[in-house]
Amino acid sequence: MNMLADTAVSGRRVPNSVEIYDTTLRDGAQLEGISLTVDDKLRIAEQLDRLGVHYIEGGWPGSNPKDDEFFDRAQKELNLVNSQLVAFGSTRRVKGRVDDDLTLAKLAGAGTGTVCIVGKAWDYHVTEALRTTLDEGIAMVADSVRFLKEKGLRVFFDAEHFFDGYEANPEFALSVLEGAAISGVDCLVLCDTNGGSLPDRVESTVDDVVRHLDTPVGVHLHNDTGCGVANALAGVLAGATHVQGTINGYGERVGNCDLVPIIANLSLKMGITTVPLGYMHNLTSVAHHVAEIVNFSADPQQPYVGAKAFAHKAGLHTSAISRRSDAYEHIDPELVGNGTRFVVSEMAGRSTMELKAAELGLHLDMGTMNDVVQTLKDLEFAGYHFEAADASFELLIRAASGWEQDFFQLESFSVSVGHRSGSGGRAWNEVAVDVETEAEVKLWIGEERIVATGYGNGPINALDAALRQALGERHPVLERLHLTDYKVRVLETSRGTGAVTRVLIDSTDGEHNWSTIGVSENIIEASWQALVDSIVYGLLHIDS
Ligand SMILES: [Zn+2]
Repeated sequence: MNMLADTAVSGRRVPNSVEIYDTTLRDGAQLEGISLTVDDKLRIAEQLDRLGVHYIEGGWPGSNPKDDEFFDRAQKELNLVNSQLVAFGSTRRVKGRVDDDLTLAKLAGAGTGTVCIVGKAWDYHVTEALRTTLDEGIAMVADSVRFLKEKGLRVFFDAEHFFDGYEANPEFALSVLEGAAISGVDCLVLCDTNGGSLPDRVESTVDDVVRHLDTPVGVHLHNDTGCGVANALAGVLAGATHVQGTINGYGERVGNCDLVPIIANLSLKMGITTVPLGYMHNLTSVAHHVAEIVNFSADPQQPYVGAKAFAHKAGLHTSAISRRSDAYEHIDPELVGNGTRFVVSEMAGRSTMELKAAELGLHLDMGTMNDVVQTLKDLEFAGYHFEAADASFELLIRAASGWEQDFFQLESFSVSVGHRSGSGGRAWNEVAVDVETEAEVKLWIGEERIVATGYGNGPINALDAALRQALGERHPVLERLHLTDYKVRVLETSRGTGAVTRVLIDSTDGEHNWSTIGVSENIIEASWQALVDSIVYGLLHIDS
């Protein structure tokens, strides 16, 4: 199969298609703060398959019980349509034999048709870390590849520290690759393990290797110079047909190269096939879903898929984009499953308001529209920030049109916190051994007065519980509404009256996400406003 199309002009051999190899489950999980259960790993694998990546590196069988359980359950529970699972491991030990090597045995027994082994390509690491000869370094790689090929497996070789090694001793680095190639390796993956390379070095090194050997070449890159994505594109331009990276760029230190923009750039900008046609529109939801599983918030500024990637703020610009989107957006956001957003803020002109109102099917006359713009400016001055609270903004516009929520009318609420002291393991200060918060909500639904009590580990939690207790019977859809994030920020207002608190709450019904806001000098009052907006918005929009 000839994956390379010669481009006569540049002399470069740019491929028509590139294999996407995801290592979120192994390299990505090295990021500080990520700790994946086996269930998490299975859920992420499903997402990767939904995106259509070619390979999913599942972990290192034999290195820990979790990875063993993953491969075991993956075979029974996963029904992958597009992706193939890969087991990762290392070459045989120094002076060891392949047929009694535990790592190689585990790899061969992992039940995956494809395996990837890492080995040393930098002479310095062979002599200093392995403390052996360069010839033995080459033999460790070649023997291991041959052993795994004889088992009928597809074998990838991750040449560790290749770019640094090639600079230090190109002859040795190439000899390691030759040994693997002669043993039948299916792809030679050049790794920038320290992540310090820049695109020109990646391009020239890949170019040298591609010219030297017929075996397909891949790249495995880290983002330590902030060039992870650019390095991947440079590698492909020089002839690499396989790219290893992670979703959202998770990985040790500053991360691996981010497959999300790599897939989009190769497919949409460079005309190189990556994931199967028709899967690209899953890019945004997969990126966000994986973020949720690893329990990180999705980066709103992530290229292509971030919530702000196609957000437009300036008033003039907004009125133009509503007429000609291609004038202000580098791609059609729908291609990657994202969408255009008009950001509402005091900077936005009337045209943004009109667009928002039209989106909601509301027709506001000129006078009302001017009032809304003025109200928005006043509220933003007081500390509100509607850019981050689209749901509260919608309620504001609805209210301006004369709408009133008729789900319930609040009479009052109260909150009390009980704290029982103890050492709690903190030697320098006493902490609560038991904190319980109780909230009471009194409200009216039509002619009926309801008093409900809720408990929680904090005031918001308890108020949320009380409110659900009061409304739950009438509105069972609330069971599907969950608060996913709660952010508090203390603001110095320009009025000079001291600090106010701004609370942002993110909510979801599992399908849609929305954000609401409250501002007050009192944190509980601010939280209450955001909480009520969240529930009212949910009642308006969740289909029962
Ligand atoms: Zn790595």
